[in-house]
Amino acid sequence: MECLESFNPANGEVVGEVPLTPVEDIPAIVDRARSAQPAWADLGLEGRGELLKQTLPIFAERVEQHAALITAEMGKPTKESIGEAKSLGWGLDRELDEIVGALSPEFVEDKRARSTIYHDPLGVVGAITPWNFPMSMPSWMLIPSLAAGNTVVFKPSEETPLCGQAYADVLNEVLPEDVLIVVHGADDQGKAIVKSDVDMIAFTGSREAGKHIMREASSSLKRLVLELGGKDPMIVLDDADIEKAAKFAAVNSFRNCGQVCVSTERIFVMEEIADEFEKALSGIAAAMTVGDGAEGADVGPMVNARQRDHVLAQLDAAVAAGATVAAGGTGHHDNFVTPTVLVGVTDDMDIAASETFGPVACVTRVKSADEAVERANHTRFGLGAVVFGGDERRTEAVARKLTAGMIGVNRPITGATGTPWVGARESGFGFHKSKDGHRQFTQTRVVTRPV
Ligand code: NAD
Repeated sequence: MECLESFNPANGEVVGEVPLTPVEDIPAIVDRARSAQPAWADLGLEGRGELLKQTLPIFAERVEQHAALITAEMGKPTKESIGEAKSLGWGLDRELDEIVGALSPEFVEDKRARSTIYHDPLGVVGAITPWNFPMSMPSWMLIPSLAAGNTVVFKPSEETPLCGQAYADVLNEVLPEDVLIVVHGADDQGKAIVKSDVDMIAFTGSREAGKHIMREASSSLKRLVLELGGKDPMIVLDDADIEKAAKFAAVNSFRNCGQVCVSTERIFVMEEIADEFEKALSGIAAAMTVGDGAEGADVGPMVNARQRDHVLAQLDAAVAAGATVAAGGTGHHDNFVTPTVLVGVTDDMDIAASETFGPVACVTRVKSADEAVERANHTRFGLGAVVFGGDERRTEAVARKLTAGMIGVNRPITGATGTPWVGARESGFGFHKSKDGHRQFTQTRVVTRPV
């Protein structure tokens, strides 16, 4: 049997291997998932929720094991991996209760008719996930898909198959057979799932793959949730708390080595405070340690050589076109890229337009808040955006002009519990989390009777 090997990006060592799923086996795998679906649906919304809650203690006891695997497979520093591993169980019971609330039947009546709105399972969901949050991204899709009564054919990223398998193994300790089936492989296996008889594709990954999936899914009008890439802007107004803004910019540009869909990739700072902001940001970047994430470094390796080459090519091209390195920029080796602050970045540079997905903070000076908004919105992406400013009304007014799906004001973009994770424009199609997000994994049906 052919195997898929997984490598540690910090040292090139083999972390492990999984059996590669032959593409020709995928239709039969989908058939198995379809056969298992009616009995799974028959357990009922509450029954499925209670069963899935049984995974909570398993996730809790495996936090360290999962965190070590995340760091070994994709390089994230241990403290970030622990956060991701903990998030799998944290709040799971609350989320499952929220799903039960969102999908319970609703009753609507007028003088002529009494209707019940049902949120029924769709059938089989094909879930395809990326490597940058190799356990939490699967969790975001699999929990709502399964709780809604669907069965799932799940393909983790080929970069992090062991994390995907370990996550699914926990669920499969409580799920009936074939309710969740893991497929291993790369694009070919992903494409075969999209082509197959699944009812829905839940995808998180790059915009290009998302567009391909949308085209392919159109032939049978499969339901879609697409969470795609971003080029998130940050606006720093002239009355912002500069230290706070610089700290946020550093954390959000360099966390997970910049390999986060809502990383701060473009910073627009007002001229009056630009010197001070750039100095503060550069100071934080220069103090960061780079190395094996398992050994306490602040910034780990990039996931692979392809991603590293992409980042370094964008950096070189930006410098050749006139951008200046204010921190970092040298000392890159193997898969390690030094956190770099680039100033004087202009809109015509590739680093200002295409997703970088690496540890680079790009700073552009602007003359006014209006110019900042115009340039921040000058993108086909629209995942997150943040604004830092002093005057509350002015900062809020700037936030409301941004075209992203999630906007943070003097804080990260993550919303209060129960709010959706949503991309605008070419960053996505559909929601994660929240009532609206949970309902996407269902078929709405209305049954109406006479009064
Ligand atoms: P990717 O698109 O290369 O791959 C993602 C997954 O899709 C992998 O499992 C891959 O094997 C599979 N795949 C690739 N092409 C496919 C196709 N044509 N049909 C079906 N499956 C296919 O992305 P990646 O490099 O793994 O992840 C990084 C990307 O994910 C970045 O663009 C990042 O912004 C995005 N991302 C978005 C979110 C979000 O919430 N919006 C979250 C995390 C990551």
